[in-house]
Amino acid sequence: MKNCIFCKIIAGEIPSVKLYEDELVYAFLDISPINFGHTLVIPKEHHTSVATVPETIAGRMFRVGSRLGVAMRRGLDCDGFNLHLSDGTVAGQVVMHAHLHVVPRWTDDGFHWNWRQLKYESDDARAEIAEKIRKHLKLDNQPGDAPAEEPEV
Ligand code: 5GP
Ligand code: ZN
Repeated sequence: MKNCIFCKIIAGEIPSVKLYEDELVYAFLDISPINFGHTLVIPKEHHTSVATVPETIAGRMFRVGSRLGVAMRRGLDCDGFNLHLSDGTVAGQVVMHAHLHVVPRWTDDGFHWNWRQLKYESDDARAEIAEKIRKHLKLDNQPGDAPAEEPEV
């Protein structure tokens, strides 16, 4: 898509440090890493949301992300890795081309997720939340699944 920095990276119009590429996905170093080696795995097709990425491509993103994590363990001697994906501005998505972060982690690397732990008021409250989600779960793409693609400028 025109004016998408990640589409431009795939097209070679913006330089990137490539780690892997196949017919479905492209993986490259994040320009402002959480830790050195932090990588992004993106679908070659432009999708704003991961929810509209076809299953084969989404599966490849996850597989490549996981194997990059293993390569980081071996090559960078990290102790683990995070796979992270932000979908939507409120969730922290800045670049509107779906992408999976692969972040190598070391003991004492100084990075902490701000992960809070709420408590459900009651079993009924928990069941109600589950049902609200369950009744809308559809595994095929539906209109309105994802935010509209940005208009071409
Ligand atoms: P988001 O916050 O949308 O989940 O993550 C976007 C990521 O893309 C950020 O971590 C940011 O550093 C990275 N990024 C943004 N622009 C570029 C770029 O031009 N090149 C590379 N390699 N990474 C970028
Ligand atoms: Zn794009």
